[in-house]
Amino acid sequence: MDSLRTETPREKLEAWLRYFDDLNLGDFYTDRRNMGKRAARQRTEEADAVPAPASKVVSPVIAVAPVPPVLPIVAVASLLDVLDRVEGDTLDRTREDLGDCTRCRLHKERNKIVFGAGNPRAELVFVGEGPGHDEDIQGLPFVGRAGKLLTQMIEAMGLKREDVYICNVVKCRPPENRKPEEDEVATCSPYLFRQLDTIAPKAIVCLGATAAQALLKTTDSISRFRGNWFDYRNTKLMATYHPAYLLRNPAAKSDVWKDLQKVMAHLGLQPRKSR
Ligand code: SF4
Repeated sequence: MDSLRTETPREKLEAWLRYFDDLNLGDFYTDRRNMGKRAARQRTEEADAVPAPASKVVSPVIAVAPVPPVLPIVAVASLLDVLDRVEGDTLDRTREDLGDCTRCRLHKERNKIVFGAGNPRAELVFVGEGPGHDEDIQGLPFVGRAGKLLTQMIEAMGLKREDVYICNVVKCRPPENRKPEEDEVATCSPYLFRQLDTIAPKAIVCLGATAAQALLKTTDSISRFRGNWFDYRNTKLMATYHPAYLLRNPAAKSDVWKDLQKVMAHLGLQPRKSR
């Protein structure tokens, strides 16, 4: 009758544990909180077990914490990115869907939504942070002092302003030109993603940290990654300083010009000849 006896849960568990031991899987099934300590103890025991040469002084085993690797920013087309795409989308349709948007608090003090402007088939798109005072009044991106500097930068690249497309991460002016909040960026940026997907440029230049961080999904400081190429949904993307920053720090213009020269090389552009 013994052979017909059903194993108790404890017996079944013990059999499984023996099986895992046979497979050399160790004691992974025990308290994981102690595993790090146990592994360190095991390493020390192994080190102690190595016989030291008689003539040499044995140095103590010093546990050195592993240095976490610095991971590069890698923006790749994820499954979610692909699902985000709107079949047969156009800039007009995106603008229509945005409507008289009240999806975030930035609508409260805006005058005009600043959707974006320029060539809908542009090879180069500039993405800024959000509209300022002049943009809010006119409903157009980059028309204030920083906008004039951007126009000069575009022309120095051998292009005209109407050759490129210019837009922002948020479409309404943040009060007092403050930085847009994380939730405002999250609410508005899907319209930016649709604009970029529709235009499908050869290169995207992010002007300032907000745009770069929104598209690359990073919180890194722009000074760490500006001037480097990244992949954004199969399009080359580079971040550089915002023209408003250049107005305050003209010395940074040479860095921006170096960045733009890389963009020009990618697009096969020649710098404008000085007149
Ligand atoms: S910032 Fe964007 S999401 Fe917020 S109200 Fe304006 S258009 Fe709508």
